[in-house]
Amino acid sequence: MGYSIYHWIVIGLIVMVVAGPFIVRARLYTLESYRRDNPGCVKTGRVACKHCGGTSLWMKKKAFFVGTGWAHTCRTCGQELYYSG
Ligand SMILES: [Zn+2]
Repeated sequence: MGYSIYHWIVIGLIVMVVAGPFIVRARLYTLESYRRDNPGCVKTGRVACKHCGGTSLWMKKKAFFVGTGWAHTCRTCGQELYYSG
């Protein structure tokens, strides 16, 4: 008796439901996380790029595992610094 395609679909759905929230949480590296990791880069009302020190950021629309969010991206070097939902 072999496994049917439905068997694998059910396994896939279970994995998505169980692992999905963890993946989303890992992907959403927020301003708070960025501030915690780079305290020198975040000052009152100002966020500096940890790569090049630039303070000009733009928000890039980004698709996440579920839904979309914003990638706060450095204008100077193009690195994505943190994300918001
Ligand atoms: Zn930069």
